[in-house]
Amino acid sequence: MIPVSTFKDRIVAVFGLGGSGLVTAQALIAGGAQVVAFDDGEAGRAKAAAAGIPVADLRALDWSTVSALVLSPGVPLTHPEPHWSVKLAQAAGVEVIGDIELFCRERRAHGRHAPFVAITGTNGKSTTTALIAHLLQRGGRDVQLGGNIGTAILSLAPPNGRRVHVVECSSYQIDLSPSLDPSIGVHLNVTPDHLDRHGSLEGYAAVKEQLIAGVESGGTAVVGVDDDFSSAIAERAERAGTHVVRVSVTRPLADGIWRDGDAIVVSEGGTERFRLSLAGIPSLRGAHNAQNAAAAFAAARAAGLAPEVIAVAIRSFPGLPHRMEQVGRAGRVLFVNDSKATNADAAERALLTFPDIFWIAGGKPKAGGIAPLAPLFGRVRKAYLIGEAAADFAGTLGSVPYEMSGTLDVALAAAARDAAASDAPEPVVLLSPACASFDQFTSFEARGDSFRTLAQGLPGVT
Ligand code: ADP
Repeated sequence: MIPVSTFKDRIVAVFGLGGSGLVTAQALIAGGAQVVAFDDGEAGRAKAAAAGIPVADLRALDWSTVSALVLSPGVPLTHPEPHWSVKLAQAAGVEVIGDIELFCRERRAHGRHAPFVAITGTNGKSTTTALIAHLLQRGGRDVQLGGNIGTAILSLAPPNGRRVHVVECSSYQIDLSPSLDPSIGVHLNVTPDHLDRHGSLEGYAAVKEQLIAGVESGGTAVVGVDDDFSSAIAERAERAGTHVVRVSVTRPLADGIWRDGDAIVVSEGGTERFRLSLAGIPSLRGAHNAQNAAAAFAAARAAGLAPEVIAVAIRSFPGLPHRMEQVGRAGRVLFVNDSKATNADAAERALLTFPDIFWIAGGKPKAGGIAPLAPLFGRVRKAYLIGEAAADFAGTLGSVPYEMSGTLDVALAAAARDAAASDAPEPVVLLSPACASFDQFTSFEARGDSFRTLAQGLPGVT
């Protein structure tokens, strides 16, 4: 744990008592703060009380005595409207911050020169974060991995001179981190997402920009420049004097890292300096993963790793579960779990990656359905539709053959049978639902775990 010493002897309100909220309260207490914690849900309050954290209704608090409100990132700060606890804090002129801000202040107070890599972007954050941590670990560094990827940042070991913190930041977390100052900032891309929470694409992009704008002096900003917002972010950072490494997977760059077929290429002044092949790395298939790999390469270089070390380490990246995860093979047939693809945009990456797909899709429908994927339907040999979205998807598929499978087990058995009987050189049974999971599963993880277990139980799958 990282005890938060910067609020010693001061009163701090903590709202939101999920996993990271509980750790935040404990870290503040360990650093000597007086914590008052609350949650709208009884379960969170009970858990906190059981852990010895003082719980009281923040509406009854004398806010003139409070130094800060520490908010969980899931609680609305601005849109659609500020949570009641935020309104109380703002009315009293009390700052509203999150756990990553507490980490930054602690690092400035005690671990000034500790390397701190922060990663954001609409898509690819977790993959890039995990890949950077993997490269640095293989390069012999003491790595702490956390943030939005699942481990609360304050539960990690404290920053010190040699230890590297690799931290995934969602836009919500950045919004709660006014002094975010990584030594290496990575921004991958911006596409419309979470607009309900940020009001507009401009507002959302502006929040994301804070991570790059905050990169500390002497640090490095790694920026994907394949969308206009991100390209402008790179330019502004450069004009402000930050060292910027640009990444593109759509065009060659004279200075930066770009994708050339299966490889990523490092160019300086128009000259190729290094070329790294991603061919045969199952966890990094597809152009989107080339963006993640190029950004991770740049971050690892900025952290001091040699290109040759990175080139070896990247080949052993295991990938993350549920993101185009290769879960098994039966002869020519490959089984791929892309349960994380909860909308059409994410499913598009998987459909782009494989040419002969036996596609398991459906679940709790999202607005727009799969209509945007129509240009890729030629890659789908047959679809196996499950969940509430099945009828709607059937209506969109046009001439693609399909079965109304209903449930995942039925879909998988049929897809595996058809894939084995097909003439494709490498047929892929792909779970990439383009839907949320909540109609039949508790989470996309539960859906993916179920697919993996079922696939690995099929005859001949290894
Ligand atoms: P995040 O943490 O930002 O949600 P992940 O690394 O978990 O991103 O990847 C989630 C899904 O997003 C992947 O399954 C893939 O479909 C898609 N994706 C991953 N990286 C990128 C990228 N660089 N650009 C666009 N889409 C991506």
